Amino acid sequence: MNKPSDRSNNTQLVHADRLINRPQNGAVHEPTNNSVLFEFEDVADLEAVFQGKQAGHVYSRSSSGSAVALQNMLNHIEGGVGAVVFATGMAAISSSLFSLLKAGDHIIVSQYLFGNTLSFFKTLANFAIEVSYIDVTDVDKVAGACKANTKMVFCESIANPGTQISDLDGISALCREQNIVFAIDNTMTPAPMLDAKAIGASLVLTSLTKYIGGHGNVLGGVVVDLGNFDWQSFENISDTYKVADPQQWGLTQIRKRGLRDMGATLAPSAAHQVAVGLETLNMRMQKTCENALCLAEFFEKHDAITKVFYPGLQAHPQHERASHLFNRRFGGILSIELAEHIDVRHFLNALNLVICATHLGDTRTLALPVATTIFHENGAQQRSAMGIADGLIRLSIGIEETKDLIDDITQALDAVRP
Ligand SMILES: *Cc1c(COP(=O)(O)O)cnc(C)c1O
Repeated sequence: MNKPSDRSNNTQLVHADRLINRPQNGAVHEPTNNSVLFEFEDVADLEAVFQGKQAGHVYSRSSSGSAVALQNMLNHIEGGVGAVVFATGMAAISSSLFSLLKAGDHIIVSQYLFGNTLSFFKTLANFAIEVSYIDVTDVDKVAGACKANTKMVFCESIANPGTQISDLDGISALCREQNIVFAIDNTMTPAPMLDAKAIGASLVLTSLTKYIGGHGNVLGGVVVDLGNFDWQSFENISDTYKVADPQQWGLTQIRKRGLRDMGATLAPSAAHQVAVGLETLNMRMQKTCENALCLAEFFEKHDAITKVFYPGLQAHPQHERASHLFNRRFGGILSIELAEHIDVRHFLNALNLVICATHLGDTRTLALPVATTIFHENGAQQRSAMGIADGLIRLSIGIEETKDLIDDITQALDAVRP
């Protein structure tokens, strides 16, 4: 009764805010409260909250009712032991990693990373944290990169734009054996697609800006601790944060260093907007995945398209793995290469319904030429290592009617046929 499909099906999500947070006066949403400061009638209570002995808020950079309500819901759908929300997905990643790692550590990260995350890891290297970029579709390569000071493996469930699928089961087993923190960026496959707890991950990091918020109107990020890692064996936890339940030590350090000290706090109104998005997550994800599979099959047969990258296709190198990991759904990211005689810009400019924009996980279908935009900074050599051809187009599939998407793409391809 505690699989993610039970915790995050449509019914559960629609009622999550009222059932998990029990807002007062019959409200079905946790009220948004913008107070930065919080008054206590007895100063002993103020002291107890400061010292972590009592629940409550003292200053909204560290916590607010709206942020805690959203944390409760996001933690619930992952089946974790706690969550911390941040202003953006990048803030969740950077604040969590800066909180948990220190100079002299080694980490293994995917060589197929979201561009800004990759750029962040280059910054981390300036702080004397050694970073190895590894092909995470192959656990043997990850095992080969492990060292005595390896503290973390970080990868994404489905990489973008190449749609490589990490060997999450294999890496999880390896990390358990070697006592390494396993952090998954699960932006592409929010529960119930991936049951990150069941595969044994330590932390799941998610950009709430994408599928969970879902409507392109709010930024946010979250880290959830799934309770699988023993923080008592992690030497980077400061004695200050070894209070109460050891299951909470990792998140306590992230909350204090990453949120309180670094300060990328999610605003209460933003937390509310994300919570509203969460209500329809599963329905939107279902339609997105259905549309993406139909379009992938359409592209596979179309003579103007030379390559299609989509884990739902039999021909995808990790199709079986994806099918088993993601509950027989394959996500909303689909990349294509056009036949050489078609100009990528002409094709994109000819689209009427599909929007040319950077972003993904939206209700609307989006298209982007990645080599000249989000991966421009990386240079040709690194793009080639990541499997990104110059003409690659990334599509983020929305929830429109399938036929309308196919019609728009067909008319654009016809318009640019030489
Ligand atoms: C967008 C994205 C992020 C960053 O999220 P923001 O909310 O935009 O900061 C991180 N990881 C992945 C996989 C993403 O797609």
